[in-house]
Amino acid sequence: MNTIPKVITRFAPSPTGNLHIGGARTALFNWLFSKNQKGKFLLRIEDTDVQRSKNEYYEQIISTLKWLEINWDEEPYIQSKNVESHINVANILLKNGHAYKCYCTEKELEEEKKLYLEKKIPYTYSKKCRNILEEVSNKPFVLRFKSKLDGKTTLKDLVQGNVVINNSTIEDFVILRKDNKPTYNLSAAVDDYQMKISHVIRGDDHKINAFKQIQIFESMEWKIPEYAHIPLIHSKEGKKLSKRDDASTVEDYKKIGILPEALRNYLLRLGWSYKDKEIFSEEESIEFFNLKNIGKSPSKLDFDRIKSINEFYIKSTNDEILLEKLIHYSELYKEKIPKQFHEIIKINLSFLKNKSKSLEDIYNNSKYIFSYEVKEDQMQKIEKSKLTIIKHIYSLIKKDKDISKDYLKNIFDKIIETEKINFKDLGQPLRIILTGSEYGPAIYDIASSLGLNEFLNRIELFFSKIDKNIKN
Ligand SMILES: [Zn+2]
Repeated sequence: MNTIPKVITRFAPSPTGNLHIGGARTALFNWLFSKNQKGKFLLRIEDTDVQRSKNEYYEQIISTLKWLEINWDEEPYIQSKNVESHINVANILLKNGHAYKCYCTEKELEEEKKLYLEKKIPYTYSKKCRNILEEVSNKPFVLRFKSKLDGKTTLKDLVQGNVVINNSTIEDFVILRKDNKPTYNLSAAVDDYQMKISHVIRGDDHKINAFKQIQIFESMEWKIPEYAHIPLIHSKEGKKLSKRDDASTVEDYKKIGILPEALRNYLLRLGWSYKDKEIFSEEESIEFFNLKNIGKSPSKLDFDRIKSINEFYIKSTNDEILLEKLIHYSELYKEKIPKQFHEIIKINLSFLKNKSKSLEDIYNNSKYIFSYEVKEDQMQKIEKSKLTIIKHIYSLIKKDKDISKDYLKNIFDKIIETEKINFKDLGQPLRIILTGSEYGPAIYDIASSLGLNEFLNRIELFFSKIDKNIKN
């Protein structure tokens, strides 16, 4: 009985930086496709670049995928552990006449390059060692793949359709370096074969690599996998996304409090569509995902769109879970929310999360509860003439011991009428005094969340500070 599943996909990041947003989408598409086809999704860490690979980035990639709940099958496959196998294949290719030793020195290659540059033709290696028949001893060499010299190759890409190139444009690429280290294209091809990858789904920038890797597959008489190259994600200005962009890595989105399910939904719709549907549950995205609905042109990042999808997910998360997410988020990126405030926040989440587009918004809205401070610059914003009004409000509440919405509304209305002021004239100073910020929830909500004692305490504290300032 054949137990090998038909579809096996892989995500193959290099641990040389934080997980890129485009990488996260590639992982998502691979995962969804394998789930849809009831296949397997494997994770391969391409760590053969020893100089740039770092363990902290490996950990970061793993934790980010877990955060996104993109779960792979089996243990992560570590490419550097398979180097012997890559070298072995390079030597088979040499033995079978599909590769050759190139003895050119760096200097010689530099000179070649210069010559091409002067003639204004794109540089590819001149192939001058391709026909050396005799072994040159004592001279260091690289192994180069003997690419086809003429004819055309067609890549039947599942996203791009037929991509045809002239074989003459594929250079005799290096497969083994002078220090016996395999190169990317060799390692990737060998690993894809050994991992029995059926579908290689990856970024558009790998298209030229596909033509090189296919040649290795052909020479080894291996079954060539299917390829699907996804157009890249561009910045909102339509430029290629670079690491300098402040929204280029998944971490950038975590930091501002985007929920993983919202980011996943956003990434799914970035370059893929299903009818007019915008919101997809996990089950729906698995059920509907296919490769043929992936668009052929680059997608642009749309920050407003991410935020509005995030707002939707915030609204549909129950308060218990939302509170947990907020506590976790604050501890990671802001400050720890002391335990005694968890319940107060939970009770008041309905207004604290109102209009919030991110966990950061909820954090900012609820900060007055657990981390209260009126800074000097905020105090300055309160006009002296308003202090008498606040004192009046304070004494009424202290006497009647009531901060219900009806009561507050009643006394505010009266004051507005007699003093001939607007609501803002008393609302703004009161909000600054109670929360330390002129922006935030409605006064009535703030009052009910603080309770009578805390409400009065904060006003007292404020006036004691002002008195102190006047004395100084
Ligand atoms: Zn050479």
